[in-house]
Amino acid sequence: MLQCPVMAWFKKARKPITSVTAEKPSRVPEGLWVKCPDCGNPVYKKDLQGNLNVCPKCAHHFRLNAAERLAALFDGGEYVEHFRDLRSTDPLQFTDTKPYRERLQKTIESTGMNDSVVVATGRLDGLDVVIAAMEYAFIGGSMGVVAGEKLTRAVEMALERRQPVLIISCSGGARMMEGALSLMQMAKVSAALARLDRARLPYISILTDPTTGGVTASFAMLGDLNIAAPKALIGFAGPRLIEQTIRQKLPEGFQRSEFLVEHGMLDLVVDRRDMKAVVARALRFMGAELAPAAVPEQAGVAVAAPTR
Ligand SMILES: [Zn+2]
Repeated sequence: MLQCPVMAWFKKARKPITSVTAEKPSRVPEGLWVKCPDCGNPVYKKDLQGNLNVCPKCAHHFRLNAAERLAALFDGGEYVEHFRDLRSTDPLQFTDTKPYRERLQKTIESTGMNDSVVVATGRLDGLDVVIAAMEYAFIGGSMGVVAGEKLTRAVEMALERRQPVLIISCSGGARMMEGALSLMQMAKVSAALARLDRARLPYISILTDPTTGGVTASFAMLGDLNIAAPKALIGFAGPRLIEQTIRQKLPEGFQRSEFLVEHGMLDLVVDRRDMKAVVARALRFMGAELAPAAVPEQAGVAVAAPTR
């Protein structure tokens, strides 16, 4: 049967448009294998998990959540969490594409956390430490009033207990929905760290992918030792924004850990699998002492109440 050309053209227009870049359906069962975004090799998920989520083939560091980062550092993965109940009150009644209050509620439900920082105490290679880890899944790990308060309390708790502090940064920077109040956290946390410094207690900053904005511009760069994860994006403004502003091509690897160490911005790049050993060695060098074995960690419950 002959087809009317107009008819054919009309039919064609009704076909759904398929994208050239549409991904082909993966033949590997969902959840068992992961494709490494760096080397492209398929990695068995169990192998990955047994390797601290580092690709066994090319050492690409997959992103961890805050709880996984803490578990990787504390002895036996055990720690006590503090100040868990602090929540933002939406001080500016902020609305962008949706009300901030709504965004917060949704994120709290999806992450099971109340804000982007987890403060924990426990032992790292036998040393008593306070560790605060930032959670990227919580509105980009952004630093609002609650994050600032929790980090400050973490430092104050370390001061009280005379213990070293570690902050693991993973953040897009200040939380714009809290405006200037979130910017004030830069000064607040920095001031607490200055008190820690005067008390001659060590602070080690661990910068992971990504650490940007106000976090980089304050406490993440204030460590007695600033250690970065391999190939992590670390900077203030992002590379695209800088390129557009200065109208110049940026050098290869700009704002990546290795580049920053080479140019004196950071002290070390450490593979996640070596992180605990390196931190423990550094803390011992800085004079941290082993916790007495006879005293088990019980203070967590008591200290979980506000210290001020
Ligand atoms: Zn890989």
